[in-house]
Amino acid sequence: MRTDRNEPWREELRKAIPAKERTAIPRVVMPELEPKYRIKTQMEVNEGLSLSQAVLEATRCLDCPDPGCIKGCPVHNDIPGFIKNIERRDFSGAMEVLNRTTVLPAVCGRVCPQEKQCEAGCTYLKMKKKPVSIGALERFAADFEREVSANMPKAKEDTEGREKGKPFFPIKIAVIGSGPSGLTFAGDMARRGYQVTVFEALSRLGGVLKYGIPEFCLPDAIVDHEISKLEKMGIEFRNDCCIGKTLSYDELQAQGFQAIYYATGAGRPRFMGIPGENINGVMTANEYLMRLNCFGPYIFGVNGASLKEKSVAVIGGGNTAIDAVRYAVRMGAERAMIIYRRDRLEMPARLEEIRHAEEEGVEFLMLHNPIEFLADEKGYLRAIKLQKMELGEPDASGRRKPVPVEGDIREVEVQLAIESVGYLPNPPLLPPGVELSQWGEILVDLESMKSSAPSIYAGGDIVRGPSTVINAMGDGRKAAASMAAAFESAMSNIKL
Ligand code: FAD
Ligand code: SF4
Repeated sequence: MRTDRNEPWREELRKAIPAKERTAIPRVVMPELEPKYRIKTQMEVNEGLSLSQAVLEATRCLDCPDPGCIKGCPVHNDIPGFIKNIERRDFSGAMEVLNRTTVLPAVCGRVCPQEKQCEAGCTYLKMKKKPVSIGALERFAADFEREVSANMPKAKEDTEGREKGKPFFPIKIAVIGSGPSGLTFAGDMARRGYQVTVFEALSRLGGVLKYGIPEFCLPDAIVDHEISKLEKMGIEFRNDCCIGKTLSYDELQAQGFQAIYYATGAGRPRFMGIPGENINGVMTANEYLMRLNCFGPYIFGVNGASLKEKSVAVIGGGNTAIDAVRYAVRMGAERAMIIYRRDRLEMPARLEEIRHAEEEGVEFLMLHNPIEFLADEKGYLRAIKLQKMELGEPDASGRRKPVPVEGDIREVEVQLAIESVGYLPNPPLLPPGVELSQWGEILVDLESMKSSAPSIYAGGDIVRGPSTVINAMGDGRKAAASMAAAFESAMSNIKL
């Protein structure tokens, strides 16, 4: 849903500064907390752009006629549309543009891997220059609205948030799971006029945004604010309600729900399956982050979480592994390291997260694979036995496969080992007729996100396996569009 690039104000803006001058502006660098300071706090590391920095960065954007950035965004944000509003200092205009396609701009501006998505399609890369800082600008627009506009008196509070002119349908839709996929689906359906209830098994709403991603990357208050906007749209949230246990599928039907969107995520950890995994001091990143994020994380030493004088190894190379190791640093670990069986360039974690980890003193032990956890005489973890690896031929994923270097085995002393080697879908407790893959993902038609059972749709990690926030959101948007189209076509066939 693009805004009109030929609107007079956009044309004037483009003419006001020639492209040559725009491209000569260096990419603005977002201020960050100093590593020595930030590792002693849970405070967010990135501080956000100031108003003048945001306007300057927005000025770099060329408002391209065929923008590659939009193609790289799974929810198709109108990127030049919102950025040009920032350039002309119409910040609420920027949010109006973003609100059409995303319910979580402050979240995406913080945690999306922009370097692999929108920024990877930016025209600047063709000129061998750094892309426009799209994520930082999205974050700026959302933060500005929250922090500044929230203090301004509003002429009339829009408590429903429905698209103007859209009818209200007395059709009840259930969303299972309050992660980014469920929230996006819920927002899109509410905007279309449906009655939406989101059911969440845990006490806190937000899915991985709350119980996975730490405060120093994504503060809880940001997620709560985005959810409060959805509440104002009329969406009902029921937490502590596990569908399939607290309420059955039949009970949902009896309560009048006519369609369901499953967005139950992939939070079941995989294990390495090597000797010693049951030793005290070996756990999964899921358990580690969940304990810290949900049960009193912010105070050093609570719940025995202090890692003072301890060495910690996190096994894996994704965002979860990096979050866990950076949390260990904040819990006071004397030595914190990442152990990864491939090399540095192949780590799937966001580049910014890897850089932050390095600045915070995390060690990276690349091309090593744990083969055994070793206990001391009291049964506590003492060391990990590591196999040295080297890169062989490319595997099915196109990445060079790590293969063991025969005879090259070493031990590294650690007191806590955190496995972060992948996730499986949460068992979704489904009604009969919904087909699953061999790994337990819900099988859907990828165009409509419809499952094999009537009126049941699904998206996000429960369909894709572990992925990203923005992909989960993209699925939610797609599912809402196709479910609404199905209802609207059924309604138009009813003869009164
Ligand atoms: P989830 O966010 O997992 O939400 C699913 C929700 O469903 C959960 O709240 C769960 O409790 C609930 N649920 C499950 N079963 C039921 C039931 N029966 N009844 C009711 N509720 C139920 N992605 C990025 O893009 N950038 C990052 O920086 C990033 N960092 C990450 C860090 C960590 C530690 C982790 C674990 C993941 C990270 N990801 C990141 C991945 C991203 O968070 C996920 O891809 C995304 O959250 C998936 O969204 P979802 O809505 O499908 O599921
Ligand atoms: Fe702006 Fe880059 Fe998108 Fe072009 S591709 S509109 S320069 S952000």
